[in-house]
Amino acid sequence: MNTIQILDKKFALSIPEVEIQAAVRKVAEAINHDIANTNPLFICVLNGAFMFAGDLMKSINFPCEITFVKLSSYEGFTTTGNVKEVIGLSESVVGRNVVVVEDIVDTGITMERILSSLKTKGANEIRVATFLQKPDALQRDITIDYVAMRIPNDFIVGYGLDYDGYGRNLKDIYTVVEE
Ligand code: 5GP
Ligand code: MG
Repeated sequence: MNTIQILDKKFALSIPEVEIQAAVRKVAEAINHDIANTNPLFICVLNGAFMFAGDLMKSINFPCEITFVKLSSYEGFTTTGNVKEVIGLSESVVGRNVVVVEDIVDTGITMERILSSLKTKGANEIRVATFLQKPDALQRDITIDYVAMRIPNDFIVGYGLDYDGYGRNLKDIYTVVEE
């Protein structure tokens, strides 16, 4: 019971929808408290953050804009591997207060790249709201302003997060079952 199969792997229910929704509402309340009247631009990082951003924005109670970006990965630019660039940001962020909306911060490498890209593009105050964080995996010195839930270093799917493209539609979070 409460176990699902996605492609070749089994996943067990780990965070039910009610807990997710309560945690997302708490983040929205904190954001409402902290940055109302600063006319922020929310930047949802696709694909994973689409569900978190959708629920979060329904509880944001001040005037704001939301836009969507993707990251492109390039091989071979540096000796360390992938270089990720923020693409699709059509709005100017010059002098703008922005809130990056992410699905999960794992090592923090992706978020570090996003933050440096936004700084280069001239953003003013940059805040980060992530649905999940794996604190034990963090390798970068980045500030994460809002975290809905902290989880252990296990692979999860659901609520926007995928396994090989599948599972994003699940309303609960499932953790991989090692066999
Ligand atoms: P980071 O650059 O912080 O190491 O990784 C961030 C990205 O790794 C996330 O945006 C997500 O795509 C992926 N990721 C990290 N942990 C998980 C996980 O447990 N499940 C899924 N589906 N993706 C993950
Ligand atoms: Mg992501």
